[in-house]
Amino acid sequence: MFKRVLLKLSGEFLANENGFGINPDTTAQLARLIIGALDGTDVELAVVIGGGNLWRGARNGQGMDPATADYIGMLGTVMNAMALQDAMETAGRPTRVMTAIQMHAVAEPYIRRRAMRHLEKGRVVILGGGNGAPFFTTDTTATLRALEIGAEAVFYAKNMVDGVYDSDPRKNPDARKLDQLTHLEVVERRLEVMDATALTLCMDKNLPLVVFDIFQEDNLRRLFKGERVGTLIQS
Ligand code: UDP
Repeated sequence: MFKRVLLKLSGEFLANENGFGINPDTTAQLARLIIGALDGTDVELAVVIGGGNLWRGARNGQGMDPATADYIGMLGTVMNAMALQDAMETAGRPTRVMTAIQMHAVAEPYIRRRAMRHLEKGRVVILGGGNGAPFFTTDTTATLRALEIGAEAVFYAKNMVDGVYDSDPRKNPDARKLDQLTHLEVVERRLEVMDATALTLCMDKNLPLVVFDIFQEDNLRRLFKGERVGTLIQS
């Protein structure tokens, strides 16, 4: 059984079928899934949410100052964090949103020790605003915050892909799922798991990663209990 973990969610998990925007029903379903898996365990959960359903700096901000485009992306992640908070609290779990860019009217600022105190009290801590710095993605936020708050692992949630494969399973029907890898193998084999900066940080600090399909029956609950699901990446 894990004591403290960090769950990385893509912004697209909150979106409509076209991958865009925030759909309250989709968000409510996701929140129920996470809270349902958490209930009855003592796992302390921090969540980092992305913003790709609203804005991706490099893609949507073409022609803009790249730093400005990234700041817009970070604000998008705060919108997602608030939507997820609303849905998780409706599902019956106390939460706190903490943001890397301060906006006191909507959420608490991210303060490491305060985040850890919320976790100890059983609140789900939802981290918005990425790292608060441009030229990063929320994959790096997940790694960074997991290390800061002493999470034992990052659970890297995917949709429709139940782990890491030796080639893209959507393109190659013979693609083989890999149950366990080292960080170095992921780098050397150029397997597309997460942002390279985030992966390197995980490798340097020896932080385990689990890549799994969050929408597959009971996967998250099993993971919380310490069962093997998806692909485990550790040194
Ligand atoms: N972003 C950023 N710094 C960060 C985290 C995010 O500048 O520390 C911006 C960046 O523009 C990124 C966008 O926010 O494209 C949305 O985050 P991400 O692409 O990681 O979202 P996801 O793909 O997980 O939904």
